[in-house]
Amino acid sequence: MRRPLIAGNWKMNLTREQSRNLATAIAMDANTSRADVVLCPPAIYLETVLETARSIRTVGNEFGIGAQNVYDKPNGAFTGEISTAMLEDLGIGYVILGHSERRQFMHESDDVVNAKLNTVLASSLTPIVCVGETLEEREAGRTLEVVGRQFEGAFAGVSEGLASRAILAYEPVWAIGTGKTATPEQAQEVHHDLRKLAVLRYNSALGDSLRILYGGSVKADNAAELLSQADIDGALVGGASLQADTFLRIIAAAR
Ligand code: PEP
Repeated sequence: MRRPLIAGNWKMNLTREQSRNLATAIAMDANTSRADVVLCPPAIYLETVLETARSIRTVGNEFGIGAQNVYDKPNGAFTGEISTAMLEDLGIGYVILGHSERRQFMHESDDVVNAKLNTVLASSLTPIVCVGETLEEREAGRTLEVVGRQFEGAFAGVSEGLASRAILAYEPVWAIGTGKTATPEQAQEVHHDLRKLAVLRYNSALGDSLRILYGGSVKADNAAELLSQADIDGALVGGASLQADTFLRIIAAAR
């Protein structure tokens, strides 16, 4: 059985105090009996959020802290970047890779995502690899082609043993931060296709155990229906993860 995971991507939002307050409220009340929970604050607040959470509960896989990005080189003259070793040093457990905003604004290609995925899988961090099509691509009937290319690109050269540690997130670009959610049927269809791709690329054991999260305007009132779909194993939540009560309701909606 795949255990649901609800991750909050705080993006470039909040002050240190707000981060501490939000982490406190979620760490106090998040019920992890049915779902893993991950908070992904801005890099500069990772330590604050981690220490805050640790003062309230055990931090690990079930209640984890994640980075929104990482670099693919181990160390050196890469101004502004952070490494997997630095994240491990803090005690960070997860990292988001290939988010559409990084693909769009920081021009991250499938090759870049692949390099980062290889680096992350060589560390103890668990990657959450994002794929998703634009509205134009969906309207042109290219959804499967696009997410398939992103999936194959990210996992090129990645062995089955390492790939089995990854989490996938389907995030249609047209649904991110727009208030437009994919219908549960639309999301389920793509999740099912992605699982089939994982079976084809690896094998049915990996495909069956691969956790595929949905992201794109997940809110407290649409989470239960999305999460009830057979191939939706959790949510990657942006805007709605910035308010404790809303995020806690999404966690509570997990199967
Ligand atoms: C995201 O950025 O991963 C996301 C899904 O954002 P939102 O929930 O705001 O659409």
